[in-house]
Amino acid sequence: MAHVITQACCADGACTTVCPVDCIHPTPAEREYLVTEMLYIDPDTCIDCGQCVPECPVDAIYSGYDLPDHLASYAAINAEYFKGTTLGDVPRRVAAPPELHEDQPLRVAIVGSGPAGSYSAHELVEVGGSGIRVDIFDRLPTPFGLARLGVAPDHLGTKLVMRTFSELGADPRVRFHLNTEIGRDITVEELREHYHAVFFTHGASSSRRLGIEGEDLPGSHAATQFVAWYNGHPDSPKPRGWQPPSHVVVIGNGNVAIDVARQLTLGPEHLAASDMAPYAVDVLSRGLVKDVTVVGRRSALHAACTLPELEALADRTDIDVVVPPEDLVLTDHELAAVRESGMLRLKYELFRTLSERPHTRERSITFRFLLTPQRILGESHAEGIELARNRMVSLGDRTVLEPTGETTVLPTNLVLRSVGYAGVELPGLPFDEATMTVPTDGARVLTEPGGEVIPGLYSAGWVKRGPSGVMGTNKLDAQGTVKVLLDDVRAGRIAAPAKSLDDLDRLLRQRQPQVVPWQGWQAIEAHELAHGTETGRPRVKVTSREALVEFAAARLSTETEEQ
Ligand code: SF4
Repeated sequence: MAHVITQACCADGACTTVCPVDCIHPTPAEREYLVTEMLYIDPDTCIDCGQCVPECPVDAIYSGYDLPDHLASYAAINAEYFKGTTLGDVPRRVAAPPELHEDQPLRVAIVGSGPAGSYSAHELVEVGGSGIRVDIFDRLPTPFGLARLGVAPDHLGTKLVMRTFSELGADPRVRFHLNTEIGRDITVEELREHYHAVFFTHGASSSRRLGIEGEDLPGSHAATQFVAWYNGHPDSPKPRGWQPPSHVVVIGNGNVAIDVARQLTLGPEHLAASDMAPYAVDVLSRGLVKDVTVVGRRSALHAACTLPELEALADRTDIDVVVPPEDLVLTDHELAAVRESGMLRLKYELFRTLSERPHTRERSITFRFLLTPQRILGESHAEGIELARNRMVSLGDRTVLEPTGETTVLPTNLVLRSVGYAGVELPGLPFDEATMTVPTDGARVLTEPGGEVIPGLYSAGWVKRGPSGVMGTNKLDAQGTVKVLLDDVRAGRIAAPAKSLDDLDRLLRQRQPQVVPWQGWQAIEAHELAHGTETGRPRVKVTSREALVEFAAARLSTETEEQ
């Protein structure tokens, strides 16, 4: 029986490099990799050797014999992928890294310690040998960005990728400067004075807007704000006494929308088993939310959530997952697409199965399709949302969206918009307002979109390409940017920095005495894990910036006293 890749897959591709029979796809060398939801094992080729299992950073690969019941559908999902998917190779330039020397190492600053920054650092130390030094800066006192503060608290498997990122902390060539903000504690220009190259990998932490009336009413929020709240983001407001209403509307049906709907309807035992912030567990354990309506503009075939997320939702036995059958009507073109693509068929069939289930439980998540938000209703607080009904129509060889002229109102006191993350402008760094990204030529930062290259500045991850792909997609992206840097080093396009790392350390001590180094984060993590063990939870997060900095400082002062 073949091995099977399951829901937690981060698609970082580590498993593809060890498979002796090349049966894990798409690999990072294949065109499909850039758009895939996860990786898959071809059951007709797999020889069951098990070599991929220890390589997976998130423990997502199982022998078919050991596949847990709740993941059983992944055997068919893995097999289905190989029916009708054409895997095209992406041509890659392969070049030996330039010779870097220990006595004059290449110094790289990385701004942002999330997946793109961590994968960049991994690649740099991998190819740089003893001739590389990497300093990672993050404005938060905790590392790993969205891996800690964006991934849903009940997706502990996905968070296992932090084990891989943590290898950086033990590497003497890598230093962390957490709780250090670019533009406040140190400027982009000052980074350029101290490093050969600066990587901007600070992600996309804000969110796109709907641009409709009533969007700024209390009770109308970005889903990212809610994600920050339940994940214990230190900068997230934590209003005392807040209670969710019984009906919540989520606009958008991508994975973040599904995450939000799921957290709002988790039962107390699942909340306790997650690493959700303690105050959020207290609020959501009361079970006040009875229904979450997830609204999409287009038809079910265009639902942006991945099949694994939908599968996980469909497997829940504590809530109803509802899809009105009338929302599942497809055009002829869409039906043809369903017939041609195994993965689309699986997704559509799952929606159909859900639409036929009886509704027997007290709590539910309801998918609605073909509805566009028009305005959020209410005087001083959101009281409902008005939506325009659409239909999909075949136009030539395309399917297009068309308003029907009908509207409908969903009463609610909480609207969460989940229509995409957006990058944030960093002082001293060019920013493209149209795409909410840093303008680049694919890796090198440009003065403006289509402008000149700024020597020594590079970018990777969401802040460069926008919020696309899964976590592991950032690995390929980071590797590409590192490769461009090394090309520039080889070609003599990188100037030596004017100042030393000792100068940098002196400057930082003056500007930000509360920099949290790796040892400070270790103290925070040890505390969180110990508190989790005491209370029967995987971890209890520290959620205030002051407390995080204090834990780190206490550990560092103990170390100083012991010396
Ligand atoms: Fe490849 Fe062996 Fe994993 Fe099968 S079990 S996918 S053959 S590495």
